[in-house]
Amino acid sequence: MAHDLLILAGDGIGPEVMGEVKKVIGWFNANGMAFEVEDDLVGGCAYDAHGQAVSDATMDKALKADAVLLGAVGGPKWDKVPYEVRPEAGLLRLRKDLELFANLRPAKCFDALADFSSLKRELVEGLDILIVRELTGGVYFGEPKEIRDLGNGQKRAIDTQVYDTYEIERIASVAFELARVRQNRVCSMEKRNVMRSGVLWNEVVTQVHKDRYADVQLSHMLADAGGMQLVRAPKQFDVIVTDNLFGDMLSDVAAMLTGSLGMLPSASLGAPDAATGRRKALYEPVHGSAPDIAGQGKANPIACILSFAMALRYSFNAGDAADRLEAAVEKVLADGVRTGDLLGPQGGTAVSTSQMGDAIVAALEDGAR
Ligand code: NAD
Repeated sequence: MAHDLLILAGDGIGPEVMGEVKKVIGWFNANGMAFEVEDDLVGGCAYDAHGQAVSDATMDKALKADAVLLGAVGGPKWDKVPYEVRPEAGLLRLRKDLELFANLRPAKCFDALADFSSLKRELVEGLDILIVRELTGGVYFGEPKEIRDLGNGQKRAIDTQVYDTYEIERIASVAFELARVRQNRVCSMEKRNVMRSGVLWNEVVTQVHKDRYADVQLSHMLADAGGMQLVRAPKQFDVIVTDNLFGDMLSDVAAMLTGSLGMLPSASLGAPDAATGRRKALYEPVHGSAPDIAGQGKANPIACILSFAMALRYSFNAGDAADRLEAAVEKVLADGVRTGDLLGPQGGTAVSTSQMGDAIVAALEDGAR
Protein backbone atom coordinates (compact mmCIF):
# COMPACT_ATOMS: atom_id res chain seq x y z
CA MET A 1 0.00 0.00 0.00
CA ALA A 2 1.32 3.44 -0.94
CA HIS A 3 2.29 5.87 1.82
CA ASP A 4 0.95 9.41 1.36
CA LEU A 5 3.56 12.00 2.18
CA LEU A 6 2.78 15.71 2.04
CA ILE A 7 5.90 17.77 1.43
CA LEU A 8 5.90 21.41 2.50
CA ALA A 9 9.37 22.63 1.55
CA GLY A 10 8.73 26.23 2.63
CA ASP A 11 11.18 29.10 2.28
CA GLY A 12 14.90 29.83 2.08
CA ILE A 13 16.96 26.63 2.10
CA GLY A 14 13.76 24.56 2.63
CA PRO A 15 13.30 23.70 -1.07
CA GLU A 16 17.04 23.02 -1.49
CA VAL A 17 17.32 20.50 1.33
CA MET A 18 13.95 18.97 0.41
CA GLY A 19 15.23 18.37 -3.12
CA GLU A 20 17.79 15.98 -1.61
CA VAL A 21 15.14 14.22 0.49
CA LYS A 22 13.23 13.61 -2.73
CA LYS A 23 16.28 11.85 -4.19
CA VAL A 24 16.31 9.61 -1.11
CA ILE A 25 12.56 8.93 -1.43
CA GLY A 26 13.15 8.12 -5.12
CA TRP A 27 15.77 5.57 -4.06
CA PHE A 28 13.41 3.88 -1.61
CA ASN A 29 10.65 3.86 -4.25
CA ALA A 30 13.02 2.14 -6.65
CA ASN A 31 13.87 -0.40 -3.93
CA GLY A 32 10.57 -1.82 -2.85
CA MET A 33 8.80 0.97 -0.97
CA ALA A 34 5.90 3.07 -2.28
CA PHE A 35 5.69 6.73 -1.34
CA GLU A 36 3.21 9.01 -3.06
CA VAL A 37 4.49 12.51 -2.63
CA GLU A 38 2.46 15.66 -2.98
CA ASP A 39 4.00 19.14 -2.73
CA ASP A 40 2.34 22.20 -1.31
CA LEU A 41 3.14 25.60 0.21
CA VAL A 42 3.76 26.78 3.76
CA GLY A 43 5.28 29.94 5.22
CA GLY A 44 6.28 32.99 3.23
CA CYS A 45 5.74 31.31 -0.13
CA ALA A 46 2.17 30.41 0.91
CA TYR A 47 1.60 34.00 2.00
CA ASP A 48 2.79 35.22 -1.41
CA ALA A 49 0.43 32.79 -3.16
CA HIS A 50 -2.66 32.92 -0.93
CA GLY A 51 -2.20 35.68 1.65
CA GLN A 52 -2.08 33.00 4.37
CA ALA A 53 0.89 31.16 5.90
CA VAL A 54 -0.92 27.89 5.27
CA SER A 55 -4.16 27.67 3.32
CA ASP A 56 -7.25 25.70 4.37
CA ALA A 57 -6.78 23.45 1.34
CA THR A 58 -3.22 22.64 2.43
CA MET A 59 -4.45 21.96 5.97
CA ASP A 60 -6.99 19.48 4.57
CA LYS A 61 -4.20 17.64 2.78
CA ALA A 62 -2.06 17.66 5.94
CA LEU A 63 -4.92 16.16 7.95
CA LYS A 64 -5.36 13.36 5.41
CA ALA A 65 -1.69 12.56 4.72
CA ASP A 66 0.10 9.67 6.44
CA ALA A 67 2.84 12.15 7.37
CA VAL A 68 3.92 15.70 6.64
CA LEU A 69 7.54 16.59 5.93
CA LEU A 70 8.41 20.27 6.31
CA GLY A 71 11.55 22.16 5.26
CA ALA A 72 11.71 25.57 6.91
CA VAL A 73 9.73 28.79 6.95
CA GLY A 74 10.49 32.49 7.17
CA GLY A 75 12.98 35.06 6.01
CA PRO A 76 13.56 38.82 5.84
CA LYS A 77 11.21 39.19 2.85
CA TRP A 78 8.24 38.61 5.19
CA ASP A 79 9.47 40.56 8.23
CA LYS A 80 6.75 43.19 7.79
CA VAL A 81 3.71 41.02 6.97
CA PRO A 82 0.84 41.13 9.53
CA TYR A 83 1.51 39.05 12.65
CA GLU A 84 -1.37 36.56 12.08
CA VAL A 85 -0.09 35.61 8.64
CA ARG A 86 3.67 35.66 9.31
CA PRO A 87 5.44 32.52 8.00
CA GLU A 88 5.76 30.92 11.46
CA ALA A 89 1.96 31.09 11.83
CA GLY A 90 1.77 28.32 9.21
CA LEU A 91 3.93 26.06 11.32
CA LEU A 92 1.98 26.83 14.49
CA ARG A 93 -1.35 26.10 12.75
CA LEU A 94 -0.04 22.77 11.51
CA ARG A 95 1.08 21.80 15.02
CA LYS A 96 -2.21 22.97 16.55
CA ASP A 97 -4.69 21.57 14.01
CA LEU A 98 -2.90 18.22 13.79
CA GLU A 99 -2.81 18.21 17.63
CA LEU A 100 0.86 17.34 17.72
CA PHE A 101 1.47 17.13 21.46
CA ALA A 102 4.71 15.13 21.43
CA ASN A 103 7.89 16.65 20.10
CA LEU A 104 10.77 14.22 19.59
CA ARG A 105 14.25 15.66 19.38
CA PRO A 106 17.03 13.09 19.06
CA ALA A 107 20.56 14.11 19.96
CA LYS A 108 22.81 11.59 18.30
CA CYS A 109 26.51 12.09 17.90
CA PHE A 110 28.01 10.75 14.69
CA ASP A 111 31.56 9.58 15.44
CA ALA A 112 32.99 11.51 12.49
CA LEU A 113 31.61 14.74 13.98
CA ALA A 114 32.43 14.17 17.66
CA ASP A 115 35.02 16.96 17.57
CA PHE A 116 32.25 19.45 16.65
CA SER A 117 30.64 19.07 20.02
CA SER A 118 31.03 21.72 22.68
CA LEU A 119 32.06 18.84 24.97
CA LYS A 120 35.10 16.58 24.90
CA ARG A 121 34.99 13.69 22.40
CA GLU A 122 34.92 11.00 25.11
CA LEU A 123 31.78 12.53 26.66
CA VAL A 124 29.79 12.51 23.42
CA GLU A 125 31.19 9.65 21.33
CA GLY A 126 28.33 7.19 20.78
CA LEU A 127 25.78 9.56 22.35
CA ASP A 128 22.21 8.71 21.36
CA ILE A 129 19.49 10.34 23.44
CA LEU A 130 15.92 11.29 22.68
CA ILE A 131 14.14 14.22 24.28
CA VAL A 132 10.37 13.89 24.33
CA ARG A 133 8.90 17.35 24.93
CA GLU A 134 5.23 18.09 25.61
CA LEU A 135 4.34 20.56 22.87
CA THR A 136 0.78 21.82 23.19
CA GLY A 137 0.34 22.61 26.90
CA GLY A 138 2.15 24.22 29.81
CA VAL A 139 3.27 27.78 30.26
CA TYR A 140 3.34 28.70 26.56
CA PHE A 141 -0.43 28.26 26.29
CA GLY A 142 -1.86 28.51 29.84
CA GLU A 143 -4.33 31.31 30.67
CA PRO A 144 -4.21 33.97 31.97
CA LYS A 145 -1.34 35.13 29.80
CA GLU A 146 -1.07 38.89 29.82
CA ILE A 147 0.66 42.06 30.90
CA ARG A 148 -1.57 43.97 33.34
CA ASP A 149 -1.24 47.66 33.99
CA LEU A 150 -1.41 48.03 37.78
CA GLY A 151 -2.15 51.74 37.51
CA ASN A 152 0.64 52.78 39.84
CA GLY A 153 3.37 53.01 37.24
CA GLN A 154 3.93 49.26 37.51
CA LYS A 155 2.94 46.46 35.19
CA ARG A 156 2.49 42.78 36.00
CA ALA A 157 3.38 40.07 33.46
CA ILE A 158 1.60 36.75 33.89
CA ASP A 159 2.18 33.39 32.23
CA THR A 160 0.37 30.35 33.56
CA GLN A 161 1.91 26.90 33.81
CA VAL A 162 -0.98 24.46 33.66
CA TYR A 163 -1.18 20.70 33.02
CA ASP A 164 -4.10 18.29 33.24
CA THR A 165 -3.63 14.62 34.06
CA TYR A 166 -4.46 13.44 30.52
CA GLU A 167 -1.80 15.68 29.00
CA ILE A 168 0.89 14.18 31.23
CA GLU A 169 -0.42 10.62 30.73
CA ARG A 170 -0.27 10.78 26.94
CA ILE A 171 3.23 12.30 26.73
CA ALA A 172 4.53 9.82 29.32
CA SER A 173 3.06 6.95 27.27
CA VAL A 174 4.87 8.17 24.15
CA ALA A 175 8.16 8.30 26.07
CA PHE A 176 7.74 4.81 27.55
CA GLU A 177 6.79 3.31 24.19
CA LEU A 178 9.80 4.85 22.49
CA ALA A 179 12.08 3.69 25.30
CA ARG A 180 10.93 0.11 24.71
CA VAL A 181 12.40 0.17 21.21
CA ARG A 182 15.59 1.89 22.43
CA GLN A 183 17.49 1.19 25.65
CA ASN A 184 14.32 0.89 27.76
CA ARG A 185 15.13 3.80 30.08
CA VAL A 186 13.11 6.98 30.73
CA CYS A 187 14.17 9.94 32.85
CA SER A 188 11.31 12.33 33.70
CA MET A 189 12.29 15.93 34.46
CA GLU A 190 10.24 18.60 36.26
CA LYS A 191 10.57 21.00 39.20
CA ARG A 192 8.39 19.35 41.84
CA ASN A 193 10.41 21.09 44.56
CA VAL A 194 8.98 24.52 43.61
CA MET A 195 6.08 23.97 41.16
CA ARG A 196 2.70 22.33 41.75
CA SER A 197 2.64 21.30 38.09
CA GLY A 198 5.90 19.47 38.77
CA VAL A 199 4.29 17.56 41.66
CA LEU A 200 1.40 16.40 39.44
CA TRP A 201 3.79 15.62 36.57
CA ASN A 202 5.85 13.40 38.85
CA GLU A 203 2.80 11.62 40.27
CA VAL A 204 1.19 10.96 36.89
CA VAL A 205 4.38 9.73 35.21
CA THR A 206 4.95 7.40 38.17
CA GLN A 207 1.37 6.07 37.95
CA VAL A 208 1.48 5.53 34.15
CA HIS A 209 4.74 3.65 34.63
CA LYS A 210 3.30 1.46 37.39
CA ASP A 211 0.09 0.71 35.47
CA ARG A 212 1.39 0.06 31.97
CA TYR A 213 5.14 0.28 31.59
CA ALA A 214 6.69 -1.35 34.65
CA ASP A 215 9.16 -3.15 32.34
CA VAL A 216 10.78 0.20 31.46
CA GLN A 217 13.38 1.65 33.84
CA LEU A 218 12.10 5.01 35.16
CA SER A 219 14.05 7.70 36.98
CA HIS A 220 13.12 11.25 38.01
CA MET A 221 15.36 14.30 38.03
CA LEU A 222 14.76 17.95 38.81
CA ALA A 223 14.96 19.79 35.49
CA ASP A 224 17.81 22.09 36.58
CA ALA A 225 19.87 19.10 37.73
CA GLY A 226 18.94 17.45 34.42
CA GLY A 227 20.43 20.39 32.52
CA MET A 228 23.61 20.02 34.52
CA GLN A 229 23.79 16.26 33.95
CA LEU A 230 23.21 16.74 30.21
CA VAL A 231 26.48 18.61 29.93
CA ARG A 232 28.34 16.63 32.62
CA ALA A 233 27.59 13.05 31.55
CA PRO A 234 25.03 13.01 28.72
CA LYS A 235 25.46 9.32 27.90
CA GLN A 236 23.67 8.35 31.14
CA PHE A 237 20.34 9.19 29.39
CA ASP A 238 18.24 7.25 26.91
CA VAL A 239 14.79 8.94 26.72
CA ILE A 240 14.10 12.17 28.61
CA VAL A 241 10.46 13.23 29.02
CA THR A 242 9.64 16.74 30.10
CA ASP A 243 7.19 19.60 29.74
CA ASN A 244 6.97 22.29 27.08
CA LEU A 245 9.17 24.93 28.72
CA PHE A 246 11.90 22.68 30.13
CA GLY A 247 11.82 20.62 26.94
CA ASP A 248 12.39 23.70 24.84
CA MET A 249 15.56 24.51 26.75
CA LEU A 250 16.87 21.01 27.43
CA SER A 251 16.48 19.95 23.79
CA ASP A 252 18.51 22.94 22.64
CA VAL A 253 21.23 22.10 25.17
CA ALA A 254 21.25 18.49 23.98
CA ALA A 255 21.37 19.64 20.35
CA MET A 256 24.61 21.47 20.88
CA LEU A 257 26.22 18.32 22.24
CA THR A 258 26.15 16.93 18.73
CA GLY A 259 27.55 19.80 16.64
CA SER A 260 25.92 21.54 13.69
CA LEU A 261 22.35 22.77 13.34
CA GLY A 262 22.46 21.24 9.87
CA MET A 263 22.43 17.74 11.42
CA LEU A 264 19.38 17.88 13.70
CA PRO A 265 16.02 16.28 12.81
CA SER A 266 12.77 16.38 14.76
CA ALA A 267 9.33 14.82 14.79
CA SER A 268 6.04 15.98 16.27
CA LEU A 269 3.38 13.34 16.87
CA GLY A 270 -0.32 13.39 17.74
CA ALA A 271 -2.56 10.80 19.38
CA PRO A 272 -3.09 7.44 17.64
CA ASP A 273 -6.20 7.35 15.45
CA ALA A 274 -8.85 5.12 17.10
CA ALA A 275 -9.54 3.19 13.87
CA THR A 276 -6.12 2.92 12.23
CA GLY A 277 -3.71 3.38 15.14
CA ARG A 278 -1.81 5.86 12.96
CA ARG A 279 -0.57 9.03 14.62
CA LYS A 280 -0.72 12.38 12.85
CA ALA A 281 2.89 13.41 12.37
CA LEU A 282 5.04 16.28 11.19
CA TYR A 283 8.75 15.82 10.54
CA GLU A 284 11.10 18.78 10.15
CA PRO A 285 14.72 19.77 10.62
CA VAL A 286 15.44 21.86 13.71
CA HIS A 287 17.13 24.59 11.68
CA GLY A 288 15.36 27.55 10.08
CA SER A 289 15.35 28.87 6.53
CA ALA A 290 18.96 30.14 6.73
CA PRO A 291 18.44 33.18 4.48
CA ASP A 292 22.20 33.95 4.67
CA ILE A 293 23.02 30.88 2.55
CA ALA A 294 19.73 30.29 0.70
CA GLY A 295 19.95 29.73 -3.04
CA GLN A 296 23.70 29.12 -2.96
CA GLY A 297 23.80 25.33 -2.81
CA LYS A 298 25.60 25.50 0.57
CA ALA A 299 22.92 24.10 2.88
CA ASN A 300 23.47 20.80 4.64
CA PRO A 301 20.51 18.53 3.74
CA ILE A 302 21.26 15.92 6.45
CA ALA A 303 18.87 17.33 9.11
CA CYS A 304 16.02 17.10 6.62
CA ILE A 305 17.10 13.66 5.38
CA LEU A 306 17.29 12.41 8.99
CA SER A 307 13.81 13.86 9.57
CA PHE A 308 12.62 11.59 6.76
CA ALA A 309 14.42 8.70 8.52
CA MET A 310 12.31 9.52 11.59
CA ALA A 311 9.19 9.39 9.38
CA LEU A 312 10.26 5.94 8.17
CA ARG A 313 10.62 4.80 11.78
CA TYR A 314 7.62 6.42 13.44
CA SER A 315 4.98 6.81 10.69
CA PHE A 316 5.76 4.03 8.23
CA ASN A 317 6.84 1.26 10.58
CA ALA A 318 10.01 0.89 8.52
CA GLY A 319 12.73 0.79 11.17
CA ASP A 320 15.02 -1.21 8.88
CA ALA A 321 14.81 1.44 6.17
CA ALA A 322 15.46 4.14 8.77
CA ASP A 323 18.52 2.23 10.04
CA ARG A 324 19.75 1.89 6.49
CA LEU A 325 19.36 5.61 5.80
CA GLU A 326 21.09 6.58 9.05
CA ALA A 327 23.93 4.17 8.24
CA ALA A 328 24.28 5.80 4.80
CA VAL A 329 24.60 9.24 6.46
CA GLU A 330 27.14 7.81 8.91
CA LYS A 331 29.19 6.31 6.08
CA VAL A 332 29.24 9.52 4.05
CA LEU A 333 30.44 11.46 7.10
CA ALA A 334 33.05 8.81 7.89
CA ASP A 335 34.28 9.14 4.29
CA GLY A 336 34.91 12.82 4.99
CA VAL A 337 32.17 14.26 2.77
CA ARG A 338 31.31 17.66 4.27
CA THR A 339 29.05 20.59 3.52
CA GLY A 340 30.53 23.94 4.61
CA ASP A 341 28.91 23.90 8.07
CA LEU A 342 30.74 20.63 8.86
CA LEU A 343 34.26 21.72 7.90
CA GLY A 344 35.48 23.06 11.24
CA PRO A 345 38.62 25.09 11.92
CA GLN A 346 40.96 22.83 9.94
CA GLY A 347 39.01 23.63 6.75
CA GLY A 348 38.88 21.36 3.71
CA THR A 349 36.73 21.28 0.62
CA ALA A 350 32.99 21.64 0.99
CA VAL A 351 30.57 19.75 -1.20
CA SER A 352 27.30 21.33 -2.36
CA THR A 353 23.84 20.48 -1.04
CA SER A 354 23.19 18.38 -4.09
CA GLN A 355 26.55 16.55 -3.92
CA MET A 356 25.81 15.64 -0.29
CA GLY A 357 22.41 14.23 -1.33
CA ASP A 358 24.02 12.28 -4.17
CA ALA A 359 26.67 10.86 -1.81
CA ILE A 360 23.97 9.66 0.60
CA VAL A 361 22.00 8.00 -2.20
CA ALA A 362 25.22 6.35 -3.44
CA ALA A 363 25.88 5.07 0.10
CA LEU A 364 22.32 3.68 0.24
CA GLU A 365 22.99 1.91 -3.03
CA ASP A 366 26.32 0.52 -1.72
CA GLY A 367 24.63 -0.66 1.45
CA ALA A 368 21.99 -2.47 -0.58
CA ARG A 369 24.56 -4.49 -2.57
P1 NAD B 1 18.57 29.38 11.01
O1 NAD B 1 18.49 28.03 11.62
O2 NAD B 1 17.84 29.60 9.75
O3 NAD B 1 20.11 29.73 10.76
C1 NAD B 1 21.06 29.88 11.83
C2 NAD B 1 22.49 29.70 11.24
O4 NAD B 1 22.70 28.32 10.95
C3 NAD B 1 22.71 30.45 9.93
O5 NAD B 1 24.03 30.93 9.90
C4 NAD B 1 22.51 29.40 8.87
O6 NAD B 1 23.23 29.63 7.68
C5 NAD B 1 23.00 28.14 9.58
N1 NAD B 1 22.26 26.96 9.11
C6 NAD B 1 20.98 26.62 9.41
N2 NAD B 1 20.63 25.51 8.80
C7 NAD B 1 21.68 25.10 8.07
C8 NAD B 1 21.93 24.01 7.19
N3 NAD B 1 20.99 23.09 6.93
N4 NAD B 1 23.14 23.92 6.60
C9 NAD B 1 24.10 24.82 6.85
N5 NAD B 1 23.93 25.88 7.67
C10 NAD B 1 22.73 26.03 8.27
O7 NAD B 1 18.06 30.42 12.12
P2 NAD B 1 17.88 32.00 12.02
O8 NAD B 1 18.94 32.59 11.17
O9 NAD B 1 17.71 32.45 13.41
O10 NAD B 1 16.48 32.19 11.29
C11 NAD B 1 16.33 32.41 9.89
C12 NAD B 1 14.85 32.37 9.55
O11 NAD B 1 14.34 31.05 9.80
C13 NAD B 1 13.99 33.31 10.38
O12 NAD B 1 12.99 33.83 9.53
C14 NAD B 1 13.39 32.41 11.43
O13 NAD B 1 12.14 32.91 11.90
C15 NAD B 1 13.19 31.14 10.65
N6 NAD B 1 13.16 29.91 11.48
C16 NAD B 1 12.31 28.96 11.05
C17 NAD B 1 12.29 27.74 11.72
C18 NAD B 1 11.40 26.66 11.18
O14 NAD B 1 10.97 26.75 10.04
N7 NAD B 1 11.13 25.62 11.94
C19 NAD B 1 13.13 27.50 12.82
C20 NAD B 1 14.01 28.51 13.21
C21 NAD B 1 14.03 29.72 12.52
